[in-house]
Amino acid sequence: MAVQDLDRLLRDAGGVQGQRVFVRADLNAPIRDGAVSDDTRLRASLPTVRRLRDAGARVVLASHLGRPKGQRKPEFSLRPVAERLAELLGAPVGFADDCVGAGAERAAASLSDGDVLLLENLRFHPGEEANDPDFARALARVADVYVNDAFGTAHRAHASTVGIVACARRAVAGDLLRSELAHLSVVLDPKRPLLCLLGGAKVSDKLAVLEALAARADALAIGGAMAYTFLRAQGEPTGASRVEADRVEDARRVLALTQSSKLRILLPKDHVVAERAEAGAPTRVVERIPDGWVGVDIGPETAAAYAHAAREAGTVFWNGPMGIFEIEAFAHGTEAMARALADAPGVSVVGGGDSIAAVNRLGLGDHITHLSTGGGASLEYVQGRVLPGVAALEQPA
Ligand code: ADP
Ligand code: MG
Repeated sequence: MAVQDLDRLLRDAGGVQGQRVFVRADLNAPIRDGAVSDDTRLRASLPTVRRLRDAGARVVLASHLGRPKGQRKPEFSLRPVAERLAELLGAPVGFADDCVGAGAERAAASLSDGDVLLLENLRFHPGEEANDPDFARALARVADVYVNDAFGTAHRAHASTVGIVACARRAVAGDLLRSELAHLSVVLDPKRPLLCLLGGAKVSDKLAVLEALAARADALAIGGAMAYTFLRAQGEPTGASRVEADRVEDARRVLALTQSSKLRILLPKDHVVAERAEAGAPTRVVERIPDGWVGVDIGPETAAAYAHAAREAGTVFWNGPMGIFEIEAFAHGTEAMARALADAPGVSVVGGGDSIAAVNRLGLGDHITHLSTGGGASLEYVQGRVLPGVAALEQPA
């Protein structure tokens, strides 16, 4: 099964000159005081938009923003995104108050070659998340050709990612979607050894990915609050750290995998502990967590050990911070991992909003092989799961 891409669309008879091309992008950016406060996702969507404009297409962009739950809520309007996109593109970006209906169709019909129009939030309609066929047909009526470039939403079977494909004359993958799949597939078929560095707040959030990666990785290094549930599973003291008592058994099961396979699991050997998980609280570096103290970061020896493993790896996949990195005093372990991946000679792939924020805060983004724009989607993909948005585009080769 193959997914056609933009190259193919632009090459095929007649190209897209004069055609209305519906681009499902992921423009779900944070909005503060009526303006986009982080335009990473917008920038990531530009290559597809630029190529289509250059080819003379009339670009109709659609996205969701936040969780308005099927209701028209002004705080989730994409209007600020249209403004920022226009600045980034250096060209006007029109805006339609609704993503379907006569107004949207009229706005799309009045575009000239190379024009760009952004439709209002898809999730103002309950039919979007319900993958309602009538809503999908209404979306498809706005344009001639469909391009899915919304990697961050590819793990959802929604009307704009799945339903619309059956209604569109032609459906292909955009450049961002294609590049995400190409880079993340390296984790599925890695240059060995494969090291997976997993952190974050909860074992329960990451259990599925943990187990799937445990089956494929040569080494698993665990940090973040997740590590304390693993330490508890080994009978080690965890003080007042965040432990998920109902996940200790799961952690034990993952640890047991090291007996039946070549998998190595690295757990923190030292810890930064604090009297309270708050900025300014007194801290210590310890090997055993004392009663009443909270684990807030991996310790320096652990960071050095994990960094060493990253240097030795053919491929490193990282998701989830090593500590409460939002607080500077607890961010050293996470920052050490960002530096380690940036220096690693092998392939480095980072998925997850918070982990990427940590990399970007240090300005190391350019030194990482791939930063995925899709948190949930990238985690599902590296587990080897089928992404419905991608499957919908597949056709017999
Ligand atoms: P990502 O967005 O990269 O997928 P997650 O959302 O899973 O990462 O986890 C990030 C969160 O984990 C951060 O808010 C961070 O503060 C939290 N976290 C990491 N270590 C700890 C810890 N020791 N105690 C409590 N929270 C932690
Ligand atoms: Mg997160």
